[in-house]
Amino acid sequence: MDLNYTDEEKAFRDEVRAFLAEKLPKEISDKIRAGRNIGKEGYQWWHATLNERGWLNFNWPKEFGGAEWNAVQRHIFEEECAAAYAPRIVPFGLSMLGPVLQKFGSKAQQDYFLPRILNGEHWWCQGYSEPGAGSDLASLKTRAVRDGDHYVVNGQKTWTTLAQYANWIFCLVRTDPEAKAQEGISFLLIDMNTPGIQVRPIVLLDGTPEVNEVFFDDVRVPVENLVGEENKGWTYAKYLLTHERTNIAGVGFSQAGLDMVKRIARIETANGRPLIENPHFAARLARVEIDLMAMATTNMRIISQAAAGQAPGVESSMLKVKGTIIRQEINDLARRAVGPYAMPFASEAVAGDNDPIGPDYAAPVAAQYFNNRKLSIFGGSNEIQRGIIAKVKMGG
Ligand SMILES: Cc1cc2nc3c(=O)[nH]c(=O)nc-3n(C[C@H](O)[C@H](O)[C@H](O)COP(=O)(O)OP(=O)(O)OC[C@H]3O[C@@H](n4cnc5c(N)ncnc54)[C@H](O)[C@@H]3O)c2cc1C
Repeated sequence: MDLNYTDEEKAFRDEVRAFLAEKLPKEISDKIRAGRNIGKEGYQWWHATLNERGWLNFNWPKEFGGAEWNAVQRHIFEEECAAAYAPRIVPFGLSMLGPVLQKFGSKAQQDYFLPRILNGEHWWCQGYSEPGAGSDLASLKTRAVRDGDHYVVNGQKTWTTLAQYANWIFCLVRTDPEAKAQEGISFLLIDMNTPGIQVRPIVLLDGTPEVNEVFFDDVRVPVENLVGEENKGWTYAKYLLTHERTNIAGVGFSQAGLDMVKRIARIETANGRPLIENPHFAARLARVEIDLMAMATTNMRIISQAAAGQAPGVESSMLKVKGTIIRQEINDLARRAVGPYAMPFASEAVAGDNDPIGPDYAAPVAAQYFNNRKLSIFGGSNEIQRGIIAKVKMGG
């Protein structure tokens, strides 16, 4: 196994760097660096920019017009984007629904939905979780009852990320309440403009309405919006989750975060000396940097195995747990480094409407610290991942 980039991979990295240097305006990267919101238009603009270059659907197979990058190319792209403070690619249509439609959708669904994911006409959100059905997703209760050529949907989804921007939602619904939990679930595509749907924001700890509750009250969904077979939705849902968990280690985000902490710690002082020279702070910084280097190597090892055709298994869980612990520790160090400036947290500063209180680098620190509590919860909580690791590695 060779963990160094080949000449071809280095050339690809240079191509990505050149693209980012040319296409990513400083105004946008400054906003991302400062943790400011770029809004729906900002994300749509970035998607369109990538799409123009043929790089938006980099994980789609060539037969669906995708770039079909291998694991190393995807890794390089994601690392370079994080280092350049590019906006993130919103994953719901591209990395989650797209692969499901490509594998299980009808030809009509593929022809209709896939181009609209790419051109930004459809913004998708993910309707899996419900109150009482998160880690134990198979206990979901939202009902879909067949009525002629429609399903009638009633129930509630929750924690639906950016549903306020979405015009479509892919939902897990219960179509057979008598069957065993996993066997009575179907996968439905629902137009958010259908009568009977209500979206209510949930304000997170950082003051932003990033997630929502979505209510369904006698919502009529055409049967042609069922993906695959009725009651087989669990299979498609699990397939989607394997795509949700790509770039799970978040090495690039952590690297960018660590660079920022070091920058702050060189400017801020403790007892008249730069904070970075404070033994206690420096020790914590060194510890997390060593952890990050070790994880980056593990990540490359797993990526190189994936490039050789070995699908990652329990390693994804290990990267999820370690990656999120590292990112949260970096957020905590940043919060400590800016000291009292983390206190006057104003969501307006994050939204970009107001000037920050204190140095500009302090503005997003509290918000990021609070917002990233989510990292160890979503995508399968860290406790659940530890359970998986224990089961596979220790036969628990
Ligand atoms: C910011 C954010 C965005 C999200 N976006 C979406 C979205 O767009 N779409 C969507 O469908 N969902 C979304 N989610 C939901 C997310 O998938 C769930 O929060 C997650 O699966 C955990 O479920 P829960 O919140 O119901 O917690 P619970 O499952 O009730 O868990 C509560 C606590 O118990 C622990 N726990 C539960 N079961 C076990 C077990 N067997 N062993 C050990 N510990 C256990 C958990 O780790 C957790 O600490 C989002 C969540 C957050 C926080």
